[in-house]
Amino acid sequence: MRIIVVGAGIIGLASASELLRRGHEVTVFDPDPVAGASRAAAGMLAPTTEFAWGQDVLHPLLADAAGRYPAFIAALEGRTGLRTGHRRTATLALGVDAADRETLAELAARRGAAVRRITGSQARELEPALAPAVSGGLLVPDDHQVDPRRVAAALLAELGSRVRLEAVAAVEREAGSERATGVRTVSGERADADEVLVAAGLGATRIDGVPPLPLRPVWGDILRLRVPDGIRPLLTHTVRGLVRGSAVYLVPREDGELVLGATVREGGVEGVQAGGVLALLRDAERILPGVAECEIAEVLARARPGSPDAVPLLGRVAPGLVVATGFDRHGVLLTPLAAELGADLIEGRGVAPAVSAAMDPFRFDGTGDATAEGTATGTGTGAARATGAPALSVA
Ligand SMILES: Cc1cc2nc3c(=O)[nH]c(=O)nc-3n(C[C@H](O)[C@H](O)[C@H](O)COP(=O)(O)OP(=O)(O)OC[C@H]3O[C@@H](n4cnc5c(N)ncnc54)[C@H](O)[C@@H]3O)c2cc1C
Repeated sequence: MRIIVVGAGIIGLASASELLRRGHEVTVFDPDPVAGASRAAAGMLAPTTEFAWGQDVLHPLLADAAGRYPAFIAALEGRTGLRTGHRRTATLALGVDAADRETLAELAARRGAAVRRITGSQARELEPALAPAVSGGLLVPDDHQVDPRRVAAALLAELGSRVRLEAVAAVEREAGSERATGVRTVSGERADADEVLVAAGLGATRIDGVPPLPLRPVWGDILRLRVPDGIRPLLTHTVRGLVRGSAVYLVPREDGELVLGATVREGGVEGVQAGGVLALLRDAERILPGVAECEIAEVLARARPGSPDAVPLLGRVAPGLVVATGFDRHGVLLTPLAAELGADLIEGRGVAPAVSAAMDPFRFDGTGDATAEGTATGTGTGAARATGAPALSVA
């Protein structure tokens, strides 16, 4: 098939790569590849420490995606010869005061075997640069990291000239029918396709011909620090800190970069927010005093493509048209799963009903529109959500 992918963030690129390897003719449109949320992302692959109450539908998806990561990375690095910064070192979830430890104890109670409780001094044995204020926490062996910019660079290298630096203005539909037939770029050029995959993050809401989607920007400020040679390695594990209830994370890369993030805000300025950066640096220093000696290499703010329930909007919305967006704060982790599901939907393969129901882009309006077309997804899930969607088994 001739397939057009709109959007070269991590989701669009990985989906395009998967479709290419399945033998399709793929073209990706994006005026500025990897300039959206994927550029900011820390790259934590954290199905355990991302656990949140009330997200029973999301968590099996995160666990499924985490299980796919080693093979996804090995294959990508093998095909391209490029490194992706995938590190399988455990994560430390650490608290400062009694309330922070209580919050982590609740996580331990919920996640049981996935975590091991540690004291403050055990944490400092693993990471000698941690502050004396760190009073305890959890060792989480299965939460890892990748460098999303390197993953994207490898995918871009693989796709080469199939990526066209143009924005899409509209998905074209067949006269008198809902069937998508291709796209029209902002410069007015038409490109035909058998299938269109819209993976444009928040930009999906601004493309004519894409049905209204319940997306909202969830802003995040994030810093990249350079650890001076004299104090390397400052940190070897990813650390997720709670400092008097306020969350901060520190993700150490192999090359001495330390990613420090991230705020979560739904309003305020669209650029970097001063108060957000101030809070991140203050809380990070409480956990790791050496942060104050680092060089600030970059400060960035990007909006996560948020969905109402933090579960992606991935499904067929019309004949010839699949959307893959709404990856919120988990898009990097969900990438291997999203790429495979997106490609399955494009090819008309069956997707497990519980999975397609969980991600149905129409689940909030209760119409389950996509089933009207007899497609592989869209199972009329407004009702499933209203009654509390069942736990999933994705594998
Ligand atoms: C501060 C921060 C930290 C994060 N940390 C993590 C993390 O640790 N782990 C994790 O799993 N996730 C994390 N995330 C979430 C993750 O970044 C997103 O879920 C993921 O990047 C979404 O990818 P995407 O490809 O859907 O969207 P994007 O990366 O936003 O890409 C969308 C692309 O579509 C293009 N586009 C838009 N409109 C058009 C158009 N009309 N025509 C053509 N192209 C168009 C844009 O140029 C852009 O390149 C973080 C996000 C932020 C902001």
